[in-house]
Amino acid sequence: RSGWLGKLKNGLRKTGNSIAATFVNAQIDDALYEELEEALLMADTGVKATEHLLEDLRRRVKSTMASDAAQVKLLLADAIADLLRPLEKSLVIGEHTPTVIMVAGVNGAGKTTSIGKLTKHLANEGASVLLAAADTFRAAAREQLLVWADRNTVEIVSQEGGDPAAVSFDAVNAGKARGKDVVLVDTAGRLPTQIHLMDELKKIKRVVNRADPTAPHEVLLVIDGNTGQNALAQVKSFDEALGLTGLVVTKLDGTAKGGVLCAIARERPIPVYFIGVGEKLEDLETFDAREFAQALLG
Ligand code: GDP
Repeated sequence: RSGWLGKLKNGLRKTGNSIAATFVNAQIDDALYEELEEALLMADTGVKATEHLLEDLRRRVKSTMASDAAQVKLLLADAIADLLRPLEKSLVIGEHTPTVIMVAGVNGAGKTTSIGKLTKHLANEGASVLLAAADTFRAAAREQLLVWADRNTVEIVSQEGGDPAAVSFDAVNAGKARGKDVVLVDTAGRLPTQIHLMDELKKIKRVVNRADPTAPHEVLLVIDGNTGQNALAQVKSFDEALGLTGLVVTKLDGTAKGGVLCAIARERPIPVYFIGVGEKLEDLETFDAREFAQALLG
């Protein structure tokens, strides 16, 4: 685990440095809280989560009678970990055969890569996976998924230029017929003009439900951890349209600021099943609130 934690820490280094810097040679006074406020906002934490954290921190400082800045830093780590803890949840499969997982996300968020990683993760756990290439609008998306399927030696249901809902319907039925443990449905992240993305995704969800009245069992959204408040806006709008059950937050190894997870925890606490910490198949990790909080503080 130290390998991925290193990547996460490296990714959040800038944020960590600027938050950590506020504590250096600092007194516990209003100036410290003001500097922290600025550092948290700069880290994409958002106004609501920042206010919450600072109030919580003041409470903790008071009740512990903390007397130096180093202690306050530890208390902030506790506050962040407590805020993020409700997001800790693991993806459970096996309650339904197949477990149907619909995966959404805007183009570029890292959806296809995450599906590849997720497939590997599930295969490592001994699950058989069937992929559904329901992004039929983008030839490149289909091809990319075929590459991932090949690399993972999993089966794929795909139909060039086909109807996304029909592909999804067929895939769920194929998953049932072939006794697969998981059907992963890759959806479009952008559509040609005139068709509304959310309508398309809702249709896929409806049709999947027709193939299996208990499905989809999970609706995941992949978001780019670098996109800050925009990622939060995506979470809200996809959740309103589809009812999300989980998130995959990618690119936390890069130049991510990381605070967006606090904003999500405060404003739309949808579990973070996985975080992406690199471009390789194995760069997918489960989310740990305490470790993340520590990485965020440098
Ligand atoms: P999609 O359009 O949402 O399917 O996005 P892709 O899966 O094609 O990913 C877009 C780019 O982001 C690619 O260059 C990926 O290699 C890269 N990427 C995806 N996830 C991660 C991650 O966790 N870390 C890093 N550094 N890059 C990632």
